[in-house]
Amino acid sequence: MIVLDGKIAAQAIKDKLKAQVENFTANGLRPPKLAAILVGSNGASETYVASKVKNCAETGFESLLIRLDASVDETTLLQTIEKLNHDHTVDGILVQLPLPKHISEQKVIETIHPAKDVDGFHPVNAGKLVQGLPGFIPATPYGIMLLLEHFDIQTKSKHAVVIGRSNIVGRPMSILLSSNIPYGNCTVTIAHSHTQNLKAICLQADILVAALGKPEFVTADMVKPGAIVIDVGITRVEDATAKKGFRIKGDVAFNEVAPKTTAITPVPGGVGLMTIAGLLTNTLQAYLNNVTA
Ligand code: NAD
Repeated sequence: MIVLDGKIAAQAIKDKLKAQVENFTANGLRPPKLAAILVGSNGASETYVASKVKNCAETGFESLLIRLDASVDETTLLQTIEKLNHDHTVDGILVQLPLPKHISEQKVIETIHPAKDVDGFHPVNAGKLVQGLPGFIPATPYGIMLLLEHFDIQTKSKHAVVIGRSNIVGRPMSILLSSNIPYGNCTVTIAHSHTQNLKAICLQADILVAALGKPEFVTADMVKPGAIVIDVGITRVEDATAKKGFRIKGDVAFNEVAPKTTAITPVPGGVGLMTIAGLLTNTLQAYLNNVTA
């Protein structure tokens, strides 16, 4: 069994991106720039945005963090996005989700210009993914594909089961794994909250991707011996003995599942770090499209 260490894979990708950026700036070009909008002060969102900003700096990207109060009205947020859409020095825009209830996430997603939509949530980019056209792939599934590539995990003709059908993880993941691309070409089953006999379906999986947001849901009895297990889940579980009062748990019961697998991602230290690598790779692509346009 090998642990698919997201730290190692993400660092290798960041090193490559950094070298590319150094090459561009040495030739007189500006560095890539990512603008992040954070509405309110949700603890997990603060952590994610801070990590994205830090990773930009480590990779030689510029970043711009725009903080808006939780009470900001939808029009002000949409106008802020429009301004960034028209700012030629900004290559990528992300709005950290979730948003307060009075703001439509769909409107926000659709206001980001598809050419700057480095989170890959805009319907135009989702459509391109379905049709196999170049566009921005949501950062988490993209990061998982980069992880499979880094560790050269063979996927062709394997049966992949993806638990979860969200627009940001499960559904795009199922499309990528079934696409005729490197580290794709799987036969894919997508499972969700209405799936019956989930255990029997999971037991057929050569590759099992858990993205349902239920801590330690996938247990050893649900995993085929020798499977590849990708754990996307990130849930804060209260724990008074932990320094911060909580621990991060994945969707897979790692300790009991790991010995049955050929390879497995840890949580933390797996898919989360690859998500940032996916985001930075998308931002560099947006930059290249922008500066060569
Ligand atoms: P979501 O709540 O939007 O979707 C969850 C999906 O799981 C739904 O499609 C639902 O049908 C399915 N589901 C729920 N209960 C189920 C059950 N009992 N059996 C089968 N399917 C079930 O969540 P999401 O945004 O896709 O995120 C999923 C998890 O991944 C969360 O823990 C989230 O925090 C985490 N996440 C991690 C990263 C990362 O970078 N590692 C990025 C995004 C999301």
